Amino acid sequence: MPRGPIDLHTHSSVSDGTETPTQLIRAALAAGLDTVAITDHDSTAGWNEAITAAEGTGLQVIRGIELSTRHEWRSVHLLGYLFDPNDAELVAETGRTRDDRLGRAERMVARLAEDFDITWDDVLAQSGGVTIGRPHIADALVARGVVANRSAAFESILHFSGGYYLPHEAPTVLDGVRMITAAGGAAVLAHPATRGREAVVDERSLARLVEAGLVGLEVGHRENTPEGRERLLELAAEFDLVTTGSSDYHGEGKPNRLAENTTTPEALDRIIAATSGVEPVRS
Ligand code: AMP
Ligand code: FE
Ligand code: FE
Ligand code: ZN
Repeated sequence: MPRGPIDLHTHSSVSDGTETPTQLIRAALAAGLDTVAITDHDSTAGWNEAITAAEGTGLQVIRGIELSTRHEWRSVHLLGYLFDPNDAELVAETGRTRDDRLGRAERMVARLAEDFDITWDDVLAQSGGVTIGRPHIADALVARGVVANRSAAFESILHFSGGYYLPHEAPTVLDGVRMITAAGGAAVLAHPATRGREAVVDERSLARLVEAGLVGLEVGHRENTPEGRERLLELAAEFDLVTTGSSDYHGEGKPNRLAENTTTPEALDRIIAATSGVEPVRS
């Protein structure tokens, strides 16, 4: 029996969380979690520190990632759990994504610098140096007093249609599922209903993802709409997919709190049973 809630989606300062992996583990302990997954964007660089920090605490750590992918013209986030971090294809592809994120952020900042008091060094100072993204640009804008907080930046200047947004390269979501599965991991679509019921992935596309090894859908997420969640539950039943719920904690970078959505022990068991890359760690 788990001793507390299971939260399978969190970020550290390796990507756009505001806490180091050690601080993230401390926060997970303070929140009384039984299990936490560390799922930084496009990087596994926080795994070892998280496991070391959890040593002797009894907290179970699930090693994971949130891959940036695309489907048609849209950005899609894909959670991957317990895969081999040395898998050559995943290492190469996440490296490419991180490199392109860097160039893209630099180009965005060059555009922003024409209109706002912001430099590339400001942004680098906000990043942990591994996976850079709009949140670090937001933090730099906050530090310069241009906006009040990250959310305000995302609602205006950094919004998709805010005039400064640029996309970055990423694999297709189908390739993402194939890669995570081939590396012995379990792939779960992250927050797939943030744009409502009609925008949830269509059955034909989902069927292809399931064929490629997709294990689950993240249904419990604050940004999934209620109608969208209903659709996800229908699709999960139709395709026999695992459903998860998680916080998508980013420390102080987002209002999301640990364990605000949780995953059942049965769902976690199914995820673990689908994997052969690395083991969950509890000590
Ligand atoms: P990027 O991948 O660089 O385009 O940035 C997207 C990231 O920004 C996501 O991973 C979110 O965690 C973060 N994000 C999106 N919207 C917001 C928001 N309103 N407030 C804070 N962070 C956000
Ligand atoms: Fe994020
Ligand atoms: Fe995400
Ligand atoms: Zn996330």
